[in-house]
Amino acid sequence: MKTAIFEKAGLMTIEEVPKPQLQADDDVIIKVVRACVCGSDLWAYANGDKKAAHSVNSGHEALGIVEEVGPAITTVQPGDFVIVPFTHGCGECDACRAGFDGTCDNHPGYTNWSSGFQSEYVRFHYANWALIKIPG
Ligand SMILES: [Zn+2]
Ligand SMILES: [Zn+2]
Repeated sequence: MKTAIFEKAGLMTIEEVPKPQLQADDDVIIKVVRACVCGSDLWAYANGDKKAAHSVNSGHEALGIVEEVGPAITTVQPGDFVIVPFTHGCGECDACRAGFDGTCDNHPGYTNWSSGFQSEYVRFHYANWALIKIPG
């Protein structure tokens, strides 16, 4: 599949990389229809912002179609149109239950922040709780 690569400040390229695979039972593979460019994506593009050269894009918001679901997924199915949000908390820890999924206890450090969404496909973890299905 194709993905955007951050080469250096002011330069993004497109590269062919392996398509993501299901890794956890509650993973979903999504075919990206639209990937957002957030203001925070532009920090590195504008200034470098200590982002490693030739690294994964910072894209972290998208719209897409569910292509493949892990065996534990009950809330979406292949073909569903979904909002793919920035954070993807587990939905079960104290932080998530209190509404603070951005600091999910099951995501140490910054791992709860999505990246790489400016790609043809993304792997999304904790998809039962965090994906938003668009009706109709
Ligand atoms: Zn953002
Ligand atoms: Zn959580």
